[in-house]
Amino acid sequence: MESDAPGPSRVRTRRAVLRAGALTAAAGLLAGCRADPAPTATDPATGAVKALLEARSAAVLAKDKPAFLAAVDPAEPGFLARQEELFAVLAALPLASWRETVESFDGTLARVRTAHSYAGFDTAEVVRTAYLRVGPSGLTGDGGDGHADDPQIWSRGPVTAVRGESCLVVGAGPLDQVAAGLDRAAPAVTAVVGRDWARKAVALVPVDGEHARALAGDRDLAEIAALAAAPQNADGSPPPARILVSPEAWPRLSALGRRVVLTHELTHIAVDAASDTTTPLWLVEGFADYVGYLDSGAADRAAAAELAREVKAGKLPSALPGHDAFAGSSPRLSQSYQEAWLACRMIAETHGRDKLVALYRAARTRPEQDALRDVLGTADIVPAWRSYLRAHLS
Ligand SMILES: [Zn+2]
Repeated sequence: MESDAPGPSRVRTRRAVLRAGALTAAAGLLAGCRADPAPTATDPATGAVKALLEARSAAVLAKDKPAFLAAVDPAEPGFLARQEELFAVLAALPLASWRETVESFDGTLARVRTAHSYAGFDTAEVVRTAYLRVGPSGLTGDGGDGHADDPQIWSRGPVTAVRGESCLVVGAGPLDQVAAGLDRAAPAVTAVVGRDWARKAVALVPVDGEHARALAGDRDLAEIAALAAAPQNADGSPPPARILVSPEAWPRLSALGRRVVLTHELTHIAVDAASDTTTPLWLVEGFADYVGYLDSGAADRAAAAELAREVKAGKLPSALPGHDAFAGSSPRLSQSYQEAWLACRMIAETHGRDKLVALYRAARTRPEQDALRDVLGTADIVPAWRSYLRAHLS
């Protein structure tokens, strides 16, 4: 069911940002990596696997299928077929880099670090852990039980890539729609935050809900339209950010909902929200919704329906929503987003949009109260915000 504005009758268009450290599963893997012995240059078996994977990595970038498959033991037809599929997927992606390096090798099982980046988009690599079985005649299989690879966008079947003017969208499903939406969103984001960001982003559209959950670090995306995340790299290096589109929620969004969601997420990307652990969440989410709803034509009472219901009943919030108010389990999650959105819009309307942007930048480097006082001249915006809510929602 669709409506013209994000509201209670439809999927919650939660537009989350997954901040640094949120991916406990990935953090665990990182800890695991460190406990493993490092490969030694003097170990001839490890050296042979290393050479095999180097040749295979070069074959991916050269799109040389015979060279890629030459690493696979021909006596393993099932694995060979899966590797042919993997090659077809990788060959269709605009990879700037692809590296498989041996992290450890026990004589039969290699723990491998895979790194990749997309040409024209990434300045950092995505680094994940994978496992390969190795026999005397080459690669014989995946890790198997207890040695699952970290999830990738291609882990669950064929994916393709669509390149827009401002985006690369990789996955399965409505790639063209997402690309068109991001291309439309990019100038809207730049109009508010300025040109000092990459002005492009990579979005992933997973195959299904289970795949989305795996890519989101075991976070359920069924009720979340999309999120901006920079899942931790397996080697601890700085990861590139991605917009993850929920394949379950996306089809249930209206055209307006999709526009708001993509602009919201792209705003998170533009201000690097995924690596920001300082800025208060009301400002992070409220700012992204401020840009998302800007010039959208959405009516306040529809876009903030849950909060409007409370305000009409005479229930005004007494404080800006805190960190916990944005947890998936928060009973007033929708209201928290709406409160944050309208707080940011009030700041922009009262003090000017530039002040809102300046406040966002200031809050990243100093305590919230200091940032408010320094930029707006007052640390207490709550009374003005309550009046604003009453004026717009009751
Ligand atoms: Zn968000």
